[in-house]
Amino acid sequence: MIDDTLAPAASLAFAETTHPAPVDANERARLLENPGFGRVFTDHMATVRYAAGKGWHDARIEPRAPLTMDSATSVLHYAQEIFEGLKAYRLADGGTALFRPEMNARRFQSSARRMAMAELPEDIFLSSIRTIVRRERDWIPAIDGGALYLRPFMFATEVFLGVKPSAEYLYAVIASSVGGYFKSGAPAVTLWVSEDYTRAAPGGTGAAKCGGNYATSLVAQAEAIRQGCDQVLFLDAAERRWIEELGGMNIFFVFADGSIATPPLTGTILPGITRDSLLTIAADLGITAREEPYAIDQARKDAESGRLVEAFACGTAAVVTPIAGMKMKAGGFQIGDGRPGPLTQRLHAALTGIQRGTAEDVHGWLDRLD
Ligand SMILES: *Cc1c(COP(=O)(O)O)cnc(C)c1O
Repeated sequence: MIDDTLAPAASLAFAETTHPAPVDANERARLLENPGFGRVFTDHMATVRYAAGKGWHDARIEPRAPLTMDSATSVLHYAQEIFEGLKAYRLADGGTALFRPEMNARRFQSSARRMAMAELPEDIFLSSIRTIVRRERDWIPAIDGGALYLRPFMFATEVFLGVKPSAEYLYAVIASSVGGYFKSGAPAVTLWVSEDYTRAAPGGTGAAKCGGNYATSLVAQAEAIRQGCDQVLFLDAAERRWIEELGGMNIFFVFADGSIATPPLTGTILPGITRDSLLTIAADLGITAREEPYAIDQARKDAESGRLVEAFACGTAAVVTPIAGMKMKAGGFQIGDGRPGPLTQRLHAALTGIQRGTAEDVHGWLDRLD
């Protein structure tokens, strides 16, 4: 939207300041034994600033620290904010790699466009991530499923209460050592089908990765927990009938004929990189994969008749998470035998095999850093 976003990006080098008192190796080893999700942070962060007329500037790697801001900073009032999520993996041969990070860079740009924000050039996004990972790779937990979760985000920093796109932005990347996403470590999750709340309307921000989408999902997620479920499943806003996705994960279904399906990207669903990767992997494995609308009443009938045999949620954080069943006002239903199904497990193994460097990376998805 703003024409000076194409500032001389290649020349934007990160000025690096090392933390004066980083977490010592023993303390880090203790933290990495059981990091959970999103609680353990590394010593450094990357920041880049944007101002209309000046473009992207002031790229830094510096000690992770609180961000101070004026109480009239526009993000605090009008929520112009977007983010990304990707992981750095320790490979079987000891190296470190990112998985399809250019997809995150492009999605960050399309989220920015939808939120009338400045678009961060792809090369600045990639160099910010690679620089942080190279510096913090000792923070990748050696535990099963462990990774360094990168959280790039950007928000409006102009000090102004008028309603208009901000003329200034702060882009930052923080890194968090993570284990599995689900606390319970449950083998399969149950979903609460939200009939009162929707996540995204046609023409809205459903396909943008913005904090606002998460803010509006929380009341439905709280309801899911009250109902004894793990996650909320959203239906389309127009008919309240078509399955869309979870609050932060896409969804797939597995049928008795061995095919899989996921709802199509019509603008209200977040285009997950895991979703896209699984569609490609399925094709590689000779599995028929369809992108097609699926109604909740049909899913119930198919689960009961035995046509629908497995379901799973997917995303960078949750990887591939089996779904045991669903619950709604009219009652609940189990999918298959309620346990992780064979095709779900096969797809999980195929995806994580590529990410961990134990399976051949035929599509060139790994971005090796060392
Ligand atoms: C991030 C996200 C996903 C998953 O995207 P990945 O690129 O696979 O991590 C799915 N749905 C929503 C709403 C998301 O925010």
